[in-house]
Amino acid sequence: MNDDISKLIEVCNNIYEKRLVSGKSGNVSIRLGDYIAITPTLKPINGLDEKDIVLVDMDGNSLTKGTPSSEVGMHIGIYKKRKDVNAIVHTHSPYATGFSFNYDKLKILEDYCKFYNTNLSSVQFEKPGSKELALKASESIVENDALILKKHGTLCVGENLKEAESLAIFIEEAAKTQFVSIMLNSVKDIK
Ligand SMILES: [Zn+2]
Repeated sequence: MNDDISKLIEVCNNIYEKRLVSGKSGNVSIRLGDYIAITPTLKPINGLDEKDIVLVDMDGNSLTKGTPSSEVGMHIGIYKKRKDVNAIVHTHSPYATGFSFNYDKLKILEDYCKFYNTNLSSVQFEKPGSKELALKASESIVENDALILKKHGTLCVGENLKEAESLAIFIEEAAKTQFVSIMLNSVKDIK
């Protein structure tokens, strides 16, 4: 199997096992020169084969069999804006996604990567898979390596797959820690 595709599949399995994605949610892609390799639509992200991964050019045309993730436009938009980005991980990880419904800003708990403020930036809700979401996310990613997509999930980018994956794991752990903190503060009066 192609080494890049095998790493992509490995990251898909990792984020599924870590429960950052479930069911048929989430998508992952890598840049391979003038095209990208991306997970397919309507398939669970774990246990994918090389033949399941779809190669797509920068105009969104599929170069292999299969249908790419419905978020392919968002991925292409980001690769066009960020020449330093070679991998994208999009999850619906439960704690961070929970914050995406209830809080405008999820705090960054430690200096993990290039952030310009102490809160995780967010993108206003747009229908998943829509051109509007692709546009807003790719505009916001210019200044951020991680974003909360409101009422939807997380979006993490990196120079390579490992960086994007690590960031997605970190965001979820940071959200979990803040959730526990909020819960503990809310029950402080219980004797
Ligand atoms: Zn999604």
